[in-house]
Amino acid sequence: MTFLELNLIEPILQALQEEGYTNPTPIQEQAIPPVLNGEDLLGCAQTGTGKTAAFSLPLIQRLHQAGPAQPAKAIRALILTPTRELALQIGESIEAYGRHTKLKHTVIFGGVGQVPQVEKIQRGVDILVATPGRLLDLMNQGLLSLKFIQTFILDEADRMLDMGFIHDVRKVIDKIPTDRQTLLFSATMPQEIQKLSSSILRDPVYVEV
Ligand code: AMP
Repeated sequence: MTFLELNLIEPILQALQEEGYTNPTPIQEQAIPPVLNGEDLLGCAQTGTGKTAAFSLPLIQRLHQAGPAQPAKAIRALILTPTRELALQIGESIEAYGRHTKLKHTVIFGGVGQVPQVEKIQRGVDILVATPGRLLDLMNQGLLSLKFIQTFILDEADRMLDMGFIHDVRKVIDKIPTDRQTLLFSATMPQEIQKLSSSILRDPVYVEV
């Protein structure tokens, strides 16, 4: 299987070539087609499997093909992840895979000043990568809105649970339009995550690696 056979478009194929990726990983082969198709997805996969590209590549392609945000500067995609390190890694991946598109993204997390993060958001981002605490904090201050989110990605759901973030995650989800595409990734599927999945995913495609 090649990335071309997965129907990825030229700006993304070029970025993948520059990254030195020759072939998709199993999670990418399984996840990219349904995500490109707009379907919900439940992914059972650990870090190291290539799951970041599995959700980022089709996300970038869909946003790129949709053209500029309506309204301008609306945040159209949210990726929620438990730690600052993961958030930064996802941000770097999106930077690399989206470098031949005009899409904008930023990463927000706690423990640092909020002003530069807020300024970046106010200049307009298509994709927001966030940890739950800082995201809720900015939402509660009225500094950002999730009203125009079309795609929501919950990364490392089981770690969210282990770290005690699941209530915050639910509060965030309550502010995202229900008419959206949702992707949930988790390395394990404890009952609490199965419950969350069935409450937020619509007829998801299940992929496991
Ligand atoms: P992840 O599981 O998303 O943390 O990715 C693990 C590592 O694999 C990252 O360093 C990626 O840059 C790399 N990677 C992801 N997809 C591919 C691919 N198709 N070919 C080669 N390396 C990849």
